[in-house]
Amino acid sequence: MRHVAVIGSGPAGYYTAEALQKQFGDEVRVDIIDRMPVPYGLIRFGVAPDHQSIKAVYRRYEKVALSDNVRFVGNVLVGRDVTVAELRGLYDAIILATGAPSDRPIGIPGDDLPGVIGSAAFVGWYNGHPDFADLDPPLDIETAAVIGNGNVALDVARILSKTPAEFVGSDIVAHAFSMLGNSAIRSIHILGRRGPHQIAMTPKELGELAHLEDAVPRVELDDFPPELDDALLEPGQRKSVTHLRDFARLEADKRKTILFDFFAKPVRIEGEGKVERLIVERTMLDERKAAIGTGETYEIPCGLIVSCIGYKTPPIEGVPYEEDRGRFANHEGVIGEGLYAVGWARRGPTGTIGTNRPDGYEVAERIAADLGSARGRKEGRPGLDRLLESRGVDVCTFRDWQKIEEAEIQRAREGSPREKFVAITDMLGARGR
Ligand code: NAP
Repeated sequence: MRHVAVIGSGPAGYYTAEALQKQFGDEVRVDIIDRMPVPYGLIRFGVAPDHQSIKAVYRRYEKVALSDNVRFVGNVLVGRDVTVAELRGLYDAIILATGAPSDRPIGIPGDDLPGVIGSAAFVGWYNGHPDFADLDPPLDIETAAVIGNGNVALDVARILSKTPAEFVGSDIVAHAFSMLGNSAIRSIHILGRRGPHQIAMTPKELGELAHLEDAVPRVELDDFPPELDDALLEPGQRKSVTHLRDFARLEADKRKTILFDFFAKPVRIEGEGKVERLIVERTMLDERKAAIGTGETYEIPCGLIVSCIGYKTPPIEGVPYEEDRGRFANHEGVIGEGLYAVGWARRGPTGTIGTNRPDGYEVAERIAADLGSARGRKEGRPGLDRLLESRGVDVCTFRDWQKIEEAEIQRAREGSPREKFVAITDMLGARGR
């Protein structure tokens, strides 16, 4: 028998468990440890609440979770309740699948003013992450600025633009639903430090902006290179740029506007005790397509700034870490003997949910090669249970999660698939123990 601990129950964690099952069949026991009492990480707390079709992938993870040799060990924080060194003593292999749930700081003067929010916090707030329940973003303002030209920036701009009716069918949490419904925001700037050809937005997500009930996207065609140059782009990017160009033809007849500010690099945030304006420097591209400042600046009066410039993996004591890349130091997923990383904790925050799948399969093969034909010699589950019990840790099992989920479905408002519990105490309470 091989005993494997996977830390993190998001997509990377479950794809890895699935791969380990395929690799070892009945000869493996996998414990998926998560700091939250509830599973699925990014699917629950990161994917936009109005993107239920993307969230539906959790059904695949559920199948893995329900198999006999995979166990969910929730409400256990590695580093606090158990250390990586202790886990190494108990398991034949440890796989870090902790994702990248922390914000990269924007690092400009004024970024500590109230009203400047990182996307991990903002996305966590509308998705019911317990850490961000009290965020209380200022929405009683007219203009918001969203920094970044990736899909997270699109998610944030779209969520800020939607009407309550457009959230039907979503699992947006009650506190965010009600605050967004009363929002005074009328214009949302999306700032890219480079141009339309350099966006990191995908076509489907970008196309959605053209169909919002109460908001319309706007671009300045002067920002675009000649249309003939679009032919040089790879097909997906070309499609995205076509969407952007099409935005110029839309009627500006809705209450809210989403403005694309290209070649716009934030340099300073100003305000008396809170955000009042963002100072932006116009840029141009050098020959390597990097943004260089022109020295010319303009200001965007705004009361909320959400910076969507990428994420980082929080370090764990005793695990080598690459500060500049915000991920665990690893070579092709191997951190050290018996210690591996998958997903964003391995690669950094790039790619779609499915990109994590090959990581899991690669690491399972790697573990098989590293362990060879030798049977694992570690104790695995019973050892962890003993340790956690001795420390009074209130572990959440997958059965507990099923009860929490049932309760969330029962208390859902009409048209919503669930009403998530936000406080950890409420999640634990819903187990009915
Ligand atoms: P991302 O795709 O890496 O985009 C980050 C953006 O921030 C880029 O436009 C980047 O510009 C910009 N940026 C970085 N540092 C900056 C700075 N200091 N000042 C101004 N702009 C800065 O990251 P993301 O949007 O967080 O998304 C993470 C991953 O999740 C991506 O792979 C994304 O596709 C995926 N995702 C997918 C979906 C979906 O499929 N529906 C939804 C959400 C997220 P430069 O290019 O100039 O560096």
